[in-house]
Amino acid sequence: MSTDFPAVMPTYARAEVGFERGEGPYLWGTDGKRYLDFACGIAVTGLGHAHPHLVAQVGAQMHKVWHTSNIFPIPQQQRLAERLVAATFADTVFFANSGAEANECGIKLVRKYHAHHGNPQRYRIITFEGAFHGRTLATLAAGGQQKYLEGFGPRVEGFDQVPFGDHKALEAAIGPETAGILIEPIQGEGGIRPVPTQCLKGVRELCDRHGLLLFFDEIQTGMGRSGKLFAHEWSGVSPDVMSVAKALGNGFPVGACLATAKAAAGMTAGTHGSTYGGNPLAMSAGNAVLDVMLAPGFLENVERIAGHLKQQLAGLVSRNPDMFEDARGSGLLLGLKCKGPNQDMILAVRKQGLLTAGAGDNVMRILAPLIVTAEHVSEAVEKIDAACADLRANAAAARKAG
Ligand SMILES: *Cc1c(COP(=O)(O)O)cnc(C)c1O
Repeated sequence: MSTDFPAVMPTYARAEVGFERGEGPYLWGTDGKRYLDFACGIAVTGLGHAHPHLVAQVGAQMHKVWHTSNIFPIPQQQRLAERLVAATFADTVFFANSGAEANECGIKLVRKYHAHHGNPQRYRIITFEGAFHGRTLATLAAGGQQKYLEGFGPRVEGFDQVPFGDHKALEAAIGPETAGILIEPIQGEGGIRPVPTQCLKGVRELCDRHGLLLFFDEIQTGMGRSGKLFAHEWSGVSPDVMSVAKALGNGFPVGACLATAKAAAGMTAGTHGSTYGGNPLAMSAGNAVLDVMLAPGFLENVERIAGHLKQQLAGLVSRNPDMFEDARGSGLLLGLKCKGPNQDMILAVRKQGLLTAGAGDNVMRILAPLIVTAEHVSEAVEKIDAACADLRANAAAARKAG
């Protein structure tokens, strides 16, 4: 069939430029221009493009076996699970293919935990305004954003949302049916809003007092983006459950749900599954990413360059007070809150050859790959300054014409 309707379902507002090749922090556009990629496919390509170690590892696996089904043991999966367990609070891992699926596993696990202990009536999960947990029906209900829920029928039951940063409201929302609390340590899509350590400690304390499971969504904040392997490590607060995806496969689709043995007690054979989840190709990507990120000094370097970039962004704000309200975020999960529409700024910096991403609260997200150097940072800052000058000149010309 051929109609006027787009062959690719038009659910995305696409940019004009696409890309045909990448190397490190750079992408080459179909327009023949080179772009500095500080969007990273929304925090996915943490190690940049065409990373030689990743290409070699996934390439080698590609010549051996792609897929066998979870009916059979998958050694690469066993290895990645053991490495994630060794590097985190968790005792066990389920592999999925995306962030939303990792969250679905976590949601099921939280509910199953209480059912397993004879309390199936405890199934409700508390989430926070401004959250983003994915686009499946359950994760949309968890995120609670009306604009994404509109028109998709009754909302999946069992999620209660409270205002961001309102401890009293959180405490008041806990009832006899509450099973757990789901929170991003730093809200990504919501506008780079970090949850203060004090609050995370308070949430942990509430969970312990009420017998709830604490579930961190580290899909965007994890895999080194904060300067630690996972952002919650900065607070010293450990969850019972955690979802990971995005940078885990550096672009190869993979998600993971990590949990303590206690939390996962009900997740026995047959309770959950996935055809592709944890397949040999995805696992070779995940293992190759860990090879790089767990190498001595890698995360320390991320922390160092992140501090430098944040300082440079603060400089941008003070040089361009007409354009930016503040610089925010931590690690390499950074953002500039714009005064004009953030989409105008994103377009203006793209014209200068810099890719960034939007976020809530009128923020332009700056998600540099973890491999950037001070030279890349300078290049990005120059491009943002140039974009500001360009926007200013355009506004002046429009005023003159009008
Ligand atoms: C991207 C993201 C998701 C959804 O991941 P998908 O792979 O798109 O399903 C969930 N939670 C957070 C915090 C994210 O940033």
